[in-house]
Amino acid sequence: MIKKFGDVIMIRLGDTESNIYLIDDVAIDAGTGLNFSRMRDLLGVAKKKLSDVKLVVNTHCHFDHCGGNGFFIDAKIAIHKDDAAVLEKGDVKLAAADWFNGNMKPRPVDQKLKDGDIIKAGPLTLQVIHVPGHTAGSICLYDKKNKLLFTGDTIFENGVGRIDFANSLPDQFEASINKIATLPVKTYYPGHGKQFDAVQFKKVLSMAVDPDDLPV
Ligand SMILES: [Zn+2]
Repeated sequence: MIKKFGDVIMIRLGDTESNIYLIDDVAIDAGTGLNFSRMRDLLGVAKKKLSDVKLVVNTHCHFDHCGGNGFFIDAKIAIHKDDAAVLEKGDVKLAAADWFNGNMKPRPVDQKLKDGDIIKAGPLTLQVIHVPGHTAGSICLYDKKNKLLFTGDTIFENGVGRIDFANSLPDQFEASINKIATLPVKTYYPGHGKQFDAVQFKKVLSMAVDPDDLPV
């Protein structure tokens, strides 16, 4: 599936894949990497090539978000410093790669992000918001001018993210949700599922969801 929201192109390669957001030459998340030809074909629909992407920003270290980093042969890789070691070591367990029958090759991280860093993505200016909880180094990316928030697996249209992984930080999750709740946001772009608005964001906060019904 490929969809366009203004400057943001969303690609989803399958049910167990993360959403991949393309803004100019920047990709936010990369999927599992297990559906290479579909990725190439869908990029072609957007008149783009894999080599056009110069930077991949992973919202966190789970395999369904970073397994496809290698798709983008000319891209540098950025991830929060607290999740970087999982990529650098190729840590199958902490990447939850076994959930997807995936394999993690150790890969260098070019940019270790921290809270407040700024990433230029075409017309968007993305501020790194560190939101520990789902993983220690989970981030959201916020464009203040356009009021867009890329939420990774911190919050979805139908629930907040799971916090029961070995590298989750459940004690810090509520503070992370409170942090993003203070941001003026028009559209939320989650790591899985559909985009949603501020009215839905408030509803999600009061939903009780079985973690087993939520994505990795
Ligand atoms: Zn995840």
